[in-house]
Amino acid sequence: MDLRGRSELRKHRCGLTWRCVLKADPSRQWRLLDLQAIDTRLDQIAHARANLPQVAAIAAARSELAAVDTELVNARTAVGDVQRELTKSEQDVQLVRDRAARDQARLDSGQGSAKDLAALQHELVSLARRQSELEDIEIEVMERAETLTKRVAELERTRTEVADRLASLEQEHATVLADLEAEAQQVGSGRSDIVAGVGEELIGLYEKIRAQSGGIAAAELRQRRCGGCRLELNNVDFDRIRRAAEDEVIRCEECRRIMIRTGESGL
Ligand SMILES: [Zn+2]
Repeated sequence: MDLRGRSELRKHRCGLTWRCVLKADPSRQWRLLDLQAIDTRLDQIAHARANLPQVAAIAAARSELAAVDTELVNARTAVGDVQRELTKSEQDVQLVRDRAARDQARLDSGQGSAKDLAALQHELVSLARRQSELEDIEIEVMERAETLTKRVAELERTRTEVADRLASLEQEHATVLADLEAEAQQVGSGRSDIVAGVGEELIGLYEKIRAQSGGIAAAELRQRRCGGCRLELNNVDFDRIRRAAEDEVIRCEECRRIMIRTGESGL
């Protein structure tokens, strides 16, 4: 058997031009339908791989994580700053307390002139006022420190949530990808045998049409309709196909795809 297919020149139906007509045994033409089914599924898998919804979701989660990280760095810096401010504020209060304690001790000892003691009492009053002011500041700083610390904890929780979500999306993506790859392997496993069985010349034509016609090169002629463009054949074309030898490779006059005749063609 000649596996490379045969072709011959024949007058076009218009009678003016010659057209190359490819010949191939019907069994080899039918195998083209198997090949087309495989290639269509492989195209669908490739399309699915390129458009997995997880890809966009992963990109969104990554940018969300980056934003949370930036906010977290800022919030931790702010906590560090406010803690230094708090230490300073506590030291300020302590200085005034120490000074007041020393003054009180001197006053309690009763040593010194009445004028000195009066001055000490006066200073104690002003130190008490100062201490109260500084303690108010300390409380305000403590409140700010508490708010900022809570914000850091909140951001840390958000970061964990986003990181977990990202990890599970990546896992999901890897699983779906692996499934699609496994399916592509399985679907494509018999392809080379079919290609060999169809023959070089017919495969060449099939690949050329596939590249030009959105991936569909061969389709069944079913109930007088081309399975590629779905158009119904006119009587002239239908008659010509009915009379054509069974090993002639038939092309649709509308979409130029290879039409495969089967028992369902209505011939
Ligand atoms: Zn067609």
